Amino acid sequence: MHVLITGGAGFIGSHLAELHLAQGHKVHVVDDFSTGSPANIEPFVHNPDFRFTEADIANWPELSQTVPWADRIYHMAAVVGVFRVLDEPIRVMTTNVQGCDMLLAAVHKGGWKPQVLIASSSEIYGPRVDDKLSEDMDLIIQPDAPPRWNYAISKLADEALTLSYGHIHDIPVSIARLFNTVGPRQTGRYGMVIPRFVRQAVNGEPLTVFGDGQQRRSFVDVRDTVVMLDQVAGKASTEGIIVNVGHDREISIMDLARLVIERAGSDSVIEIIPYEVAYGQPYVDIRRRRPDTRRLHSMVSHRPQWTLEATIDDLIRAARQARDTAPA
Ligand code: UDP
Repeated sequence: MHVLITGGAGFIGSHLAELHLAQGHKVHVVDDFSTGSPANIEPFVHNPDFRFTEADIANWPELSQTVPWADRIYHMAAVVGVFRVLDEPIRVMTTNVQGCDMLLAAVHKGGWKPQVLIASSSEIYGPRVDDKLSEDMDLIIQPDAPPRWNYAISKLADEALTLSYGHIHDIPVSIARLFNTVGPRQTGRYGMVIPRFVRQAVNGEPLTVFGDGQQRRSFVDVRDTVVMLDQVAGKASTEGIIVNVGHDREISIMDLARLVIERAGSDSVIEIIPYEVAYGQPYVDIRRRRPDTRRLHSMVSHRPQWTLEATIDDLIRAARQARDTAPA
């Protein structure tokens, strides 16, 4: 199989590349290194089945030639991370919507019908506080808090574009609403909580809990995510499937901080930081975000293998190694 991954030098994209290379597939990654990095693809950059192009897909002259090569396309390229969404709200909208539109237009013009999986996000559920979020729920977009919801709005537009291309042009598509995903290669630079807590615990720094710490999340390991994405993409249909991809175990951010400290055997303390200080502006956080995984489980056979504890232990090991081998 020929697999094109936009944003394939990013966190989830690079794990997808690794998975498909291990299956003997040919993988072409396009990434502009805006969030992704050369280090993420370093482990397989010399694999003869791997090809890399540094480009922003909205300005990539070879997009139309490359798309017909692919049997499957994962569109993972996006501006992500709370810090970037607040700092670059226009870019979030333009990059995320234009990139998706240009990709789908190129697939349509190419005439060939690859399976297309578009990465969406659990952010689009907005500030709902339901026990579990399911794919058929109404979504909440608060109109008076731009640019807070720009990422959600951009992903909602991507979903609408994807369903329309699928329906109007008979392209087999699927949409994965990704819930909080963690694991190796994730950077804490743009806000993601677990890499930040792990680095803080390993360095003996205070763990920065934003807000009251009672907000809850469900985390899934990226090595499970990519196996499930592979299975979801294999079921792409012209009606378009929307599916939550995540794990339904829930934990508060305060308990997460305690867990990371305990697993690291760290002396770090927990520091409560108001949102306004953390994000430099007032911020509406999501209080609760937990996927209803019934649709996912009806579609894919894979069940998450990594417990949160095992993932955290693995990240602590890697963070210690990075700290101890960093140049002085
Ligand atoms: N968070 C935190 N400390 C940090 C970074 C994040 O308490 O150093 C909180 C953040 O406010 C949110 C949760 O952890 O409530 C998850 O944040 P992340 O940015 O990882 O993902 P989100 O679920 O907000 O998209």
